[in-house]
Order: sequence, then structure tokens, then C-alpha cells
Amino acid sequence: MKSKKILVWFRNDLRLHDNEMLVEAIAKSDDILPVYIFDPRNFQLTPQYTYRSGVIRAKFLLDSIADLRKSFQRLGGNLLVLTGYPEEILPVLVERYDIAEVYHHREVAHEETKVSADVEDCLWKLRINLRHFIGHTLYNKEDLPFPIKDIPDGFAQFKKKTERDAIVKACFLTPEVIAFVAIEEWGDLPAVEEIVSAEAMIGEVHQELIGGEEEGLKHLNALLEEGSTIYQKSTVKGATGKSGFSSRLSAWLALGCLSPRMVYWLVKDAEETFGTNPHFSQILLGLLWRDYFRFMFKKHGQHFFNDYAMKPERLFSEDREKLLFEEWKNGTTGNEYVDNYMAELNTSGFIPHAARLLLSTYLIYVLKIDWIKGAAYFEEKSIDYAPANNWCNWAIVAGGGKNTGTIKSAFDLDKQFKLLNLVVYKQ
Ligand SMILES: Cc1cc2nc3c(=O)[nH]c(=O)nc-3n(C[C@H](O)[C@H](O)[C@H](O)COP(=O)(O)OP(=O)(O)OC[C@H]3O[C@@H](n4cnc5c(N)ncnc54)[C@H](O)[C@@H]3O)c2cc1C
Repeated sequence: MKSKKILVWFRNDLRLHDNEMLVEAIAKSDDILPVYIFDPRNFQLTPQYTYRSGVIRAKFLLDSIADLRKSFQRLGGNLLVLTGYPEEILPVLVERYDIAEVYHHREVAHEETKVSADVEDCLWKLRINLRHFIGHTLYNKEDLPFPIKDIPDGFAQFKKKTERDAIVKACFLTPEVIAFVAIEEWGDLPAVEEIVSAEAMIGEVHQELIGGEEEGLKHLNALLEEGSTIYQKSTVKGATGKSGFSSRLSAWLALGCLSPRMVYWLVKDAEETFGTNPHFSQILLGLLWRDYFRFMFKKHGQHFFNDYAMKPERLFSEDREKLLFEEWKNGTTGNEYVDNYMAELNTSGFIPHAARLLLSTYLIYVLKIDWIKGAAYFEEKSIDYAPANNWCNWAIVAGGGKNTGTIKSAFDLDKQFKLLNLVVYKQ
């Protein structure tokens, strides 16, 4: 009898734990074919003359793919790695390996949903179904106490109602046995120079964080133990968000090396053991912000930004503005805080939330430069770039988005500096 084969198309879900898509594919097939495709569009030049990915995130991504491949190899299989356009590659694979169905995770940002829609169209011509899963959020869309169209636009309301009326589901178990489609050639991982443009490679980098599920889980477990010690020593009341604590989980969460539910339940376990503390609470609150922005993108799409036309009055001539933007990007503005944090972003790809607020506030309100340019620059440089998180946070600082008024301090540079004085941010 013919065996049923399901192709599992990995994107920002690079893990075995808590992966409904993978669990379902294993349950519904005889053999699975896991595939990752390096899409050149994810590394190309943007209309703002920045790159969609710089070298630091590309390296983190390559680590993560290598780690996923290793996990499949341990189970006797592999991960097929290819480069090209998914809408061209997937139909070829479907025909070549006689695939019955393709599974993938649904995204919310415009570019990613467009790729899914193109893939869906191409597969449909072959009468093959593209099945969508939703595994990026803490709360499942169907478990929310409101349909997407009625999700409150204000974060406070969203948080209150969601925490009161919705539950965080248990994690899916990590598969221990998988049957793989037999393939001779699984493809080599590209070198970073093959995917990132030479101009985006310029500059010194010190990548501290290593991508992949294994590293992510190691970091999380170490952090939870550390969090408990910090709490025992801490005497600061109400220090949440201002304590200088930063879990640095965002890069693993952005690529799905860690599931938000796994983070949530491990933090909850740590709370059982050590009691609650401001650092644990900050992580849980961050996960809610993350959900909120994804759901806002889902609800409003591009209209999240369109309610206001942030056309800053220009303070300086075009040439001068170009120069100021270069100084901002290179960390040579003359403002000590701005320059140090920018240097940190440029070399490590990571800065904490308060520093992101400072850099964005400075660009928008001091230099009066269009926030889109800043957001595009962060897209290139951040190791943890996630479309909803980056663009929605920038829009809010610029006075747009739907949650206006929440981050009032973002509009006030003096308050930003005061905030930063509280943030003892030392390596
Ligand atoms: C201008 C600007 C751009 C940003 N761009 C990104 C981005 O591209 N990717 C990204 O993950 N976050 C982004 N953020 C949100 C936030 O700054 C980072 O998530 C956070 O600094 C990551 O550090 P952490 O992992 O130590 O966070 P923690 O405080 O430990 O929080 C735990 C997790 O919750 C999530 N989280 C926390 N705060 C937020 C927030 N305000 N919005 C959304 N999610 C949050 C992150 O996944 C984070 O890892 C941006 C914020 C601003 C102001």
C-alpha cells in the first residue's frame, strides 16, 4: 500500500518541543519530510536601503537550523535544506516525493503571509492542501475570550480579559520516534556569506547568543535558577521593567527555538519552587505584549499603522538629515547613552527594552527622522527581529498604533534618561 507522506515546512518554528504542526504531521502520516528553505527575499535590500537581515541574525538562524538538523539526525532522519523561493521549490518537492499534504505555521506580517498565500496557490494547482497551524503565541486564537475582530485595542484591556478568561494550554510532547521520507541528498547549510550581502557584513560583531532549541532551553533553565537567586538578594520593590533585568529570550522566541508556552510553564514551575519575583513577572508580562502585538497585526493588518500619518516636520535639510541618520546608525551622535547603546546593537544585535525606547525616541523626537527608517535599521541589526514586535513598538513610540497613551515616557527624552539611570545595564 502507498505510504502517506507529509512535508513539514519549517519557518519561525525551529524546535521539536511544543510543536503541534510536527506532532500532527507524525500522527497523520507514515513518513514526514522536514524542510527549511532559505528565501533570498529575507536578506535583500529594503526601500530604506537597509537589509532585511544583517550578519548577526543570519548567524543565529544558521545555528538554529543546524541544531534542528542535529535533532532530526538523532532520530535517524534529517532536515532538507534548500535555497530559493518556497512557492517554486515546494511544488517540485511535492511531485518528486509524492507528498500528500504540506504543513506550516501561519504568520501575521504582510511579507510572510504573502509567501504563504503564493505557496497555497501553487500547491492548489496540484490539488495539494497547505495546512496552517498557529503555534507562535502563548494563547491560542480560539481560546481568547473574544473573536479577533473584537480584541481590545488597548493593551491593559487585552491583558485583563485574557488573563481572567483564557487559559494557557499545556505544551505538546516532544516526539521521540519519527519516520522520515528516504532521501539521498539533504543539502548543505549555506555559509553566512552566501546568504547575507557583502555590505551587510561590514563592521565588527560579537555574537554572544547562539541559536537553536538546545541553547535556548539551556539559557532559559540557567536563567530561572539565576532569577531565583537574584530575587532572594533583591530588596527593590516594584522594580519590574526598571531593574535592569533582561531575560534575553527574545531571539530564541522570534525564531521559534523556544515556544512561548514552554517559557510560560517553566517560569510557572520556577515560581512554584522559588516563589514569585519581579524578574519572573517581567518575562510573563513580556509574553503577553508579544501576543498582543501579533493579535493586533492579525486584527488590523497594515491598518495598524495607517490611522495616523507620521510625517515628522523636518528640522534639517535633506543632506543634513542624511548625515544625522548616519550618525545615529553609527553611534556617533555625541549623546553618550545613544551612542553606547547603538554600538551595542551594532556589535551584538541585542539591547534591552529601555535602550530600544531611548534610541527610537531620539531618532523620532530629537532628530525628527521618519520612524520607518529607524524600524528598518532595527530590522537589519536586531538578533531578535520579529515583525510584529519591531514595527508595532516603533509605531507606538512614534505616536501611532492602536495603544496610544500606554508608553507615555517614550515621548519624553528626559524620562527616558531617568529610566535609564535606573537600568544598571552592564555586561
Ligand atoms: C523600538 C522597539 C523595537 C523592538 N523590536 C523588537 C523585535 O524586533 N523583537 C522583539 O522580540 N522585541 C522587540 N521589542 C520589544 C522588547 O524591547 C524586546 O522584546 C525585549 O527587549 C527583549 O528582551 P528580553 O528577551 O530580555 O525581554 P524580557 O523583558 O525578558 O521579556 C520576555 C519576552 O517577552 C517579549 N517581550 C518583552 N517586551 C516586549 C514588548 N514590548 N513587545 C513585544 N514583546 C515583548 C519578548 O519576546 C521577550 O523575550 C522592541 C521594542 C522597541 C521599543
